[in-house]
Amino acid sequence: MIEAGEFGLIEKIRKMYMVPEGFTGIGDDCAVIPQKSGEDTLVSSDMLIEGVHFLLDSIGPWQLGWKSAAVNISDIAAMGGTPVGSFLSFALPGSVGSEWMDAFLEGYGCISNEFGIPLLGGDTTSSPERLCISVTVLGRCKSGQCKRRNAAKPGDMICVTGPLGDSAGGLKVILAETGKLSLQNLSDISKAGNSIERLVCRHFLPWPRIKEGKILAGCKVVHAMMDISDGIGSDLRHILSESDVGAVVDVENVPVSDDLLAFCAENGLDAKELAICGGEDYELLFTAEDGSDPGIPYFKIGHIVEGDSLIWKGTDKDYMGFKHF
Ligand code: ADP
Ligand code: MG
Repeated sequence: MIEAGEFGLIEKIRKMYMVPEGFTGIGDDCAVIPQKSGEDTLVSSDMLIEGVHFLLDSIGPWQLGWKSAAVNISDIAAMGGTPVGSFLSFALPGSVGSEWMDAFLEGYGCISNEFGIPLLGGDTTSSPERLCISVTVLGRCKSGQCKRRNAAKPGDMICVTGPLGDSAGGLKVILAETGKLSLQNLSDISKAGNSIERLVCRHFLPWPRIKEGKILAGCKVVHAMMDISDGIGSDLRHILSESDVGAVVDVENVPVSDDLLAFCAENGLDAKELAICGGEDYELLFTAEDGSDPGIPYFKIGHIVEGDSLIWKGTDKDYMGFKHF
């Protein structure tokens, strides 16, 4: 048991190792490595562990392949970069067979093709018990142009690129319905027949906001940016601590979809809580000069203030977001 928790451990590691001048290391969505060519190289690495990030009997292999690539591509989007290649590693238990693997690779390949990302390498080993997947994605952006978490300024508006909480709603459906619904074959959100299926699709098949991230990166009025993987209840705190600022969020203005509202109304759930604490939406969270035009449609959810407080206006809850340990 690590007493300091996930983020305490990361901070400890961060303090132990020096980062060369001009590099960005631990603490952002990607590492940033300056190149001689006038471009920066971006690197992001993430693991997906059976039992922690997915349950083998509730997600199909095609979907898991898609999602494994998507969550890493999203970290390139988070900095405003263009993905250029990926590395895929497995620790495989005996329970994983060839048919499962073929479908996984098809899903992984499908999203990689969508974004024009070649698979360039990886590693394959056995695992005594559980499946572990590790993906690294490389990206690039113009030198000095990528958006970091540490650039939010008092007075900035806080924005997100789309409705939040659908993925958390989808996960609720999946956990309740495992074995009862044949949702594991969903591979295209346009084929989802109803609001429940659309929520599940949003959980299984996140769409990294590469296009939006690149536009935002080219926009001077945009200051800090990251992707939403753990829910803004957790992720916004990263922007605040890295930028040394506080925030006021208007809970009323946190966008939620009609699908999520309908699902929550039927099941006695709080849509705003799923939107803020749920995670895995992979929308972008950014700050920009108040009233400016960042070049894409966005939802304004609050503003940055001096100090270090995070106030959720319109509620007495203190939202936290997802934590691994
Ligand atoms: P994200 O959710 O965007 O993938 P994480 O919360 O996983 O970000 O990681 C936050 C930061 O900590 C990133 O910069 C990541 O590279 C770094 N990090 C996480 N785990 C480790 C580790 N074991 N060693 C070094 N850096 C780490
Ligand atoms: Mg991220």
